[in-house]
Amino acid sequence: MDLGLAGKRAIVCAASKGLGRACALALAREGVAVTITGRGAEALEEAARAIRDETGAEVLAAQGDITMPEGRAAALALCPDPDILVNNAGGPPPGDFRNFTDEDWHKALNANMLSPIAMIRAVIDPMIARKFGRIVNITSGSVKSPIPALGLSNGARTGLTGFVAGLARDVVKHNVTINNLLPGSFNTDRIASLAKSNGRSLEAEIAERSRIIPAGRIGDPEEFGAACAFLCGVQAGFIVGQNLLLDGGLFNSTM
Ligand code: NAP
Repeated sequence: MDLGLAGKRAIVCAASKGLGRACALALAREGVAVTITGRGAEALEEAARAIRDETGAEVLAAQGDITMPEGRAAALALCPDPDILVNNAGGPPPGDFRNFTDEDWHKALNANMLSPIAMIRAVIDPMIARKFGRIVNITSGSVKSPIPALGLSNGARTGLTGFVAGLARDVVKHNVTINNLLPGSFNTDRIASLAKSNGRSLEAEIAERSRIIPAGRIGDPEEFGAACAFLCGVQAGFIVGQNLLLDGGLFNSTM
């Protein structure tokens, strides 16, 4: 399917690795010029080179912390008027909420709620004026099905979800859509770091997660990237304010 995206421009935040990188790659395969961000220069340059080499698309690298104004300004300087915005940032650490400080909460709220809203605010009016915009927020399955130890994530991401539910319905008349992609377990460095906090090897962590997932495995980031590209496609203009769970069937419900 031709998603009709050739020649469009995208900012994909936190995209030197993992799910963000997979989204950037999938968009670049559709002929989108992508600006990717990340804090570590080496991984960011490597990702930009690899995506460019594979797809021939224009790939710009904006180094910086997307949760800081300077990091956002760096991305917007390279791509001031994106047609597509994929919001993403690292997830907050697990822990017992009794030990979370105010600073922990502010950090999580800033990374997983306020920073994506700041990016949306920076790009949405030109999208409205051009009558095309696609915004995808990478959130988490924990928005639908809370993970007790990830209280910071549960709280901050649900705040973002509530905010965009209203905004999405306000801007869709201009062919600007906002949707959220909710990853279950995907094979990225995030799983490796959660394995460490759970005191398990990576193999044991993947096996334990796969055991309870109806698909019998964890997700491949490429599957996530493909879903993101579809939501950004011209055909997806009637998909509004949705929370699309990609979890191999783990969340058990009829609808
Ligand atoms: P990952 O493999 O650890 O990759 C994270 C990427 O984001 C890296 O490129 C990292 O590069 C970049 N990054 C992190 N913080 C950043 C910041 N403040 N500014 C700019 N770039 C930043 O993580 P992932 O698995 O792709 O996860 C992406 C998001 O989905 C996270 O919020 C995670 O919590 C959520 N999630 C993931 C899963 C899963 O199974 N993988 C499940 C549920 C939710 P630098 O470190 O160099 O900046």
